[in-house]
Amino acid sequence: MTFKLPELPFEKKDFKGFISAEGFDYHHGKHHAAYVNNLNAAVKDNNYSGLSLEDAVKLAHKEGNMTVFNNGSQHFNHSFFWNCMKPNGGGEPDGEIAKLIERDFGSFENFKSEFSTAAAKLFGAGWAYLALNEQGKIEIMKFSNAGSPFLENKSALLTIDVWEHAYYIDHRNARPNFINLFWDYVNWNFVNKQL
Ligand code: MN
Repeated sequence: MTFKLPELPFEKKDFKGFISAEGFDYHHGKHHAAYVNNLNAAVKDNNYSGLSLEDAVKLAHKEGNMTVFNNGSQHFNHSFFWNCMKPNGGGEPDGEIAKLIERDFGSFENFKSEFSTAAAKLFGAGWAYLALNEQGKIEIMKFSNAGSPFLENKSALLTIDVWEHAYYIDHRNARPNFINLFWDYVNWNFVNKQL
């Protein structure tokens, strides 16, 4: 299987203050594209050829193939991340995710604060995720560099990229500003569809 860089599911200019068109040009057009290209080179003509993305990442994790693992996991994470945002998104969640947040975090405000703190305090590069575990509870997970909930048999619901490349063009070193603005664009419909 040849992996492909997905098109962004929105117009690049519609995330005022959060990510500029230039930010997307670099993050999607350069960084994400490089992960896809590196992954395709690393799965060519070997036992990874033909595997689905998740299967390739799981096998690479097991075998310690860091090139397939890092680039494959980053391809998954970025593809998922683009779907977590939309123009005119944000606000309070609705549907099933609203009920689960209330049940497992007490309130949306509390969840937002815990998720933001996890993302802001993650040391170095990585990802903060909201995921559904096998017991049906939702939880916040943090990954350094690459890594994803599916490796621990949890379903990804929402993520934010806190690698420096995610925010440096638009926010320089101010990671917390980038995280605060994320809440204005969260695609809760997409989150609900993952449940
Ligand atoms: Mn990134």
